[in-house]
Amino acid sequence: MTSLSGEKVQPPVEKVAPGIWCVPTVVPDSPIGWTQTYLLESDDGPYLIDTGWNHERAWADLSAGLVECGTSVSEIRGIIVTHHHPDHLGLVGRVRDASGCWVGMHDADTELVKRHRELLADDPEVFDQDTQVKLLEAGAGQCDVDDVVAAGKGVVMPMPALPDRSLDSSTLRLGDRVVELVHTPGHTPGPLCLRIDGRLLTGDHLLKTISSHVGLYGFEAPDGDPLGDFFGSLRLLTGAEPSEVLPAHRGRFHGVDARVAELLGHHEERLEELQKALAEGPLTPWALCQAMTWNRPWDELPRMMLRAALAETMAHVRHLELLGVVTVAVGTPTQVRLT
Ligand SMILES: [Zn+2]
Ligand SMILES: [Zn+2]
Repeated sequence: MTSLSGEKVQPPVEKVAPGIWCVPTVVPDSPIGWTQTYLLESDDGPYLIDTGWNHERAWADLSAGLVECGTSVSEIRGIIVTHHHPDHLGLVGRVRDASGCWVGMHDADTELVKRHRELLADDPEVFDQDTQVKLLEAGAGQCDVDDVVAAGKGVVMPMPALPDRSLDSSTLRLGDRVVELVHTPGHTPGPLCLRIDGRLLTGDHLLKTISSHVGLYGFEAPDGDPLGDFFGSLRLLTGAEPSEVLPAHRGRFHGVDARVAELLGHHEERLEELQKALAEGPLTPWALCQAMTWNRPWDELPRMMLRAALAETMAHVRHLELLGVVTVAVGTPTQVRLT
C-alpha cells in the first residue's frame, strides 16, 4: 500500500486502483493544501468525483491531471460531488461548461448551495456580517471579532455552481461501473461516500490524519445536531471493511473500524472537556471554545480558523443540549450551563 500520511507536499497524479485515478488539485493559501479528486474510467467515458477550488492553478492541475490519465476535461460525462464545500464543488461549473456533463450531489447540500447563491447575490459581504454577529453572541470581544473578520477578508468566495442531478444512498450505474452511494451527514448535511469495487471513497467524511470539521452554522441547520449525525454516519461505515479508503485529503488508508473508534473517542473527550469546564459555572461559547483542545494552542490557531472553531464548539454544545446535559440561554452573550 502507498501511504501519503503526514505528507505536506501535493502528490502526483496516480492510478490508485483499476480504472480509478487520483488527481490532486491545489487549494491555494489554505492549510489543507490540496483536494484529491478522483477519475473513474468506464466503458461509457470518464466520470469525476469532486473537482477542486475555483482557482486558475487548481484548474491547471485538473486539466493537466486528466491528460495524464489519458483523457481531458471535455470528455467528462458526469461529476459526483461528495459535498458542497468549495474545495470540492468549486470547479464543477467550469468542467460542465467544457464538457456538457451532469453534476450530481445530495439534495441537502444542493439546498445550501441555492441558499448561498441567494445570499451572495443579495450581499457579497453576508458571510462577514454573519461571522461578526455569531462571534459577538458567543461572547468574543470586539478585538477578536475584528481580527477574525479581517483574516477572512482575503478569501474570495465565487458564486457556487448549482448541481443538476439529485443523488442519495443508492446504486448508480456509470457505464460498466457500479457505484454504491452512502449518505453520511455530519461534516455537512449531504456528504456522499462511494463504494466502488471494494474501495471506499470518503470525501471529507473520513480522513486518516485529520478529524473532519463538524460545525453548527446558522445558514445550514440551525436546529440540527450535526455531531450526532456525524456519529451515526461514522457507525454506518463500520463492519464492512473496504480494501482501501480513498479520502479527499491526505493519505489513503486501511482500517475503517479502527479509525471510526478513534474519532468517536476524540469527540467523546471533547464533550467531557466541555462538561469539566462548565463544572465551575456557566460560560459563554467563546470561553468554551478556548477550553477545548485543538490541534495547536489557542493563541497559535490561525485567526481565520476561529469561526470554524466556534462552530465546532457549538456543535458539541448542541449535542450535549439535546442529551439534556447542558442548557443554553441564547443572548448577547449566550450562556451555557450544566443542567
Ligand atoms: Zn468539506
Ligand atoms: Zn475538503
